[in-house]
Amino acid sequence: MTTLNEFSSCVTQYDPQALPVTAAQAIVRQWATPVTAIEHVPLHDALDRVLAEDIVSPCDVPAHDNSAMDGYAFHGTALEVPAARVELTVAGKALAGHPFGGAVAPTACVRVMTGACMPTGCDTVVPQELVSRSGETIRFSAEVVRAGANRRLAGEDLPRGSVALRAGRILRSSDLGLIASLGIGEVPVRRRLRVAFFSTGDELRSLGEPLEPGCVYDSNRHTLFAMLRRLNIEPLDLGVVRDQPAALETALRSAAASADVVLTSGGVSVGEADLTKQLLQTFGDVAFWSLAMRPGRPLAFGRVWSGERPGVGLPALFFGLPGNPVAVMVTFYQIVREALLVMSGASAQPAPLLQAASSAPIRKRVGRTEYQRGVAKRDADRHWHVTPTGSQSSGVLSSMSEANCFIVLAHERSDVAANENVDVMLFDGLI
Ligand code: AMP
Ligand code: MG
Repeated sequence: MTTLNEFSSCVTQYDPQALPVTAAQAIVRQWATPVTAIEHVPLHDALDRVLAEDIVSPCDVPAHDNSAMDGYAFHGTALEVPAARVELTVAGKALAGHPFGGAVAPTACVRVMTGACMPTGCDTVVPQELVSRSGETIRFSAEVVRAGANRRLAGEDLPRGSVALRAGRILRSSDLGLIASLGIGEVPVRRRLRVAFFSTGDELRSLGEPLEPGCVYDSNRHTLFAMLRRLNIEPLDLGVVRDQPAALETALRSAAASADVVLTSGGVSVGEADLTKQLLQTFGDVAFWSLAMRPGRPLAFGRVWSGERPGVGLPALFFGLPGNPVAVMVTFYQIVREALLVMSGASAQPAPLLQAASSAPIRKRVGRTEYQRGVAKRDADRHWHVTPTGSQSSGVLSSMSEANCFIVLAHERSDVAANENVDVMLFDGLI
């Protein structure tokens, strides 16, 4: 068996004490294997699920040539007249859902409404506001319309047999409509990824418990729950676990038995690192435990098994996130999120970055990637500006609520001057 540890040591820039973020992302990506089980769900339950198979159109959409305008349908040869004056007799009408039955002579036309089937013998529609009508006769100038105009062709949106949606897509509102337009009411999706998580720390209290001196309420479990729900992942909340090797071991093993991925928070910083590391070496496999990243330096990644040693029992990927509440969110979005998407079967794209001018100078140390919380907005000059939120301490969760973006400062860059452009990752669509 290749261990993560062996694999990681072959990665360029491998330094388990301070691995660059891009190297960590590459390692994690290698070990994220998609779930394979498929479920067939009713259309409405498919929202935000990962499409498991290509959706192939069983029919032409639209099914018939139809009018794109309210007007009169006729055959384009009628436009070839002396003096360019077209005169046609109205033979009947066609509404959406009510086609015109007969065939239409070259000298005749049919009153049509948007979406109505093109009557047999017609290929052109002249909009109603361009014609003058008296009784059953319409007149218009041949110059106002070209043969074939204002008609939507059958299959123009999707021809029969074409791929409407590719497997791996996370289904959105428009996709549900598109699937319905094909007459399909049940959708093949990947089973949801199961992620077990727990918090570690003797000082943590759960909601409803009294807060003794020196204790804090456990907030990380609730942030993790919310972040997982946003990705439509099945969260498995395993509560708070005390800082005791036996308790941690039991919790990790039962988490591995019930989930695809295990996330923990706390207990990986200096002084405590050895505990997690030792535990992982006994019945797991560690790829790295410290990143060149701020916040989020202590972050363990590896695999755990439900059995008493590596390779025994059920496996799960393991992320040991830092304890500080902001660091939990930063590491989740920068390191964990992509792996969870890939494991869910989604064709994951990195979150888009925007360029914005920093309204203040920012101190930045070369040799680590930094993620500051910022407020980005587009000013009257139509350019994006970003202001770091006040406190950048990784314990101040209110800085995340106040912010609307991460300011991403790359590994190799140094201080930022005021007005210098920086990369910004907007929370909208992310968190
Ligand atoms: P640790 O990484 O365990 O040393 O924790 C770092 C800091 O984060 C400490 O101040 C902890 O009290 C705090 N912390 C750890 N876990 C949580 C949690 N689940 N909720 C809120 N704060 C936490
Ligand atoms: Mg702790």
